[in-house]
Amino acid sequence: MSETMRASRRGLGAGLRATAKVLPEHARAHNRALVLQHLFHEGPTSRADLARATSLTRVTISDLVNVLLAEGLVEELGVQPGRRVGKPAILVGMRTDAYQIVAVDLSDDAVMRGAVLTLTGEAVVRRSLAVEGRSGDDLVDLLTRFARGLLSAASRPVIGIGVGSPGIIDPSGRVVEAPNRAWFDLPLAGMLTDRLGLPVQVANDANTAALGEYTYGGAAGSMLVLTIGQGVGAGIMVDGARVHGAGDAAGELGHVTVVDGGEPCACGRRGCLETVLSVPALRKAVAGLDTEEADAVLAAAGRVLGTTLAPVVSALNLAEVLLSGPAELVDGALRQAATDTLRTRTMPAVAASLRLRMATLDEDVVLAGAAVLVLAAQLGVS
Ligand SMILES: [Zn+2]
Repeated sequence: MSETMRASRRGLGAGLRATAKVLPEHARAHNRALVLQHLFHEGPTSRADLARATSLTRVTISDLVNVLLAEGLVEELGVQPGRRVGKPAILVGMRTDAYQIVAVDLSDDAVMRGAVLTLTGEAVVRRSLAVEGRSGDDLVDLLTRFARGLLSAASRPVIGIGVGSPGIIDPSGRVVEAPNRAWFDLPLAGMLTDRLGLPVQVANDANTAALGEYTYGGAAGSMLVLTIGQGVGAGIMVDGARVHGAGDAAGELGHVTVVDGGEPCACGRRGCLETVLSVPALRKAVAGLDTEEADAVLAAAGRVLGTTLAPVVSALNLAEVLLSGPAELVDGALRQAATDTLRTRTMPAVAASLRLRMATLDEDVVLAGAAVLVLAAQLGVS
């Protein structure tokens, strides 16, 4: 890894897809992110077209490309085909296979899953490890060993490590609380960075899922990913930026009361969305029913979901709601009822531009999003 890559380890700020020029002191890192962002999403581009696309001068682009060439992040790919007029333009492309990312998904209570990914999100190595009931410091130690194993399995220099974890996690990667892991006020990203000697990003698993769907799954910039598993969580993006909220708990829809005096919840209250919509709750509700009866039960859960989401979707004018969970439970009567309920409970201007669909990245969604955490922090790409 070059010195410049090392210098950039602290990251380029929390912003995601860069779209406009900013203050001079941030300009260099920002411009670099603009160029990488364009190459990442649009593919090989000539310097002249990069200048046009980013509204930067040709001199600035030329300097930036020289730095990126020296870092090994981009390469020259020969002459642009089909151009007959003027000087032939040499295409510049991002070397998405030159570096790798290590990603870890902690969303499953029983198993930690990890992967070594290319910069374009393809998993080249996959590993998983039973958690065996570990929590607190023991779990941090296990996670450290697991990440070390993945690092040694990488076949290219690793630019960073991303971790998606349950719980409330602040932008610095400090776990405010993750009760099921016995993590409270734990500076997880800082600890792992010290132990592993590489930059580590940690974010809530549902937020991470939203990033994964945004960057690798083609989701809209204003959207919500609802993760339906042991619990229920949501990651929200508005206008291409992750929503953190005042206490870093944006998206915690799982513990909104939806049934007065309903089933007891793990949080100590009753009738939370999680008691209706989590996978264990849905499985229990449909157990022993025939298809028609099960569909009626799932549709009822879908109506509860639609009712819960309507004010959220309206307040934020979201373009998409993505459901991430077992298709046999979620992608049928439940999704249809949620869609119908959302449409009847929101004004046409909101409903017309709204799509409610299944997430596309399936069980890899948190891993993919953890990789995006690293891409965004190290390269300014998302
Ligand atoms: Zn609850």
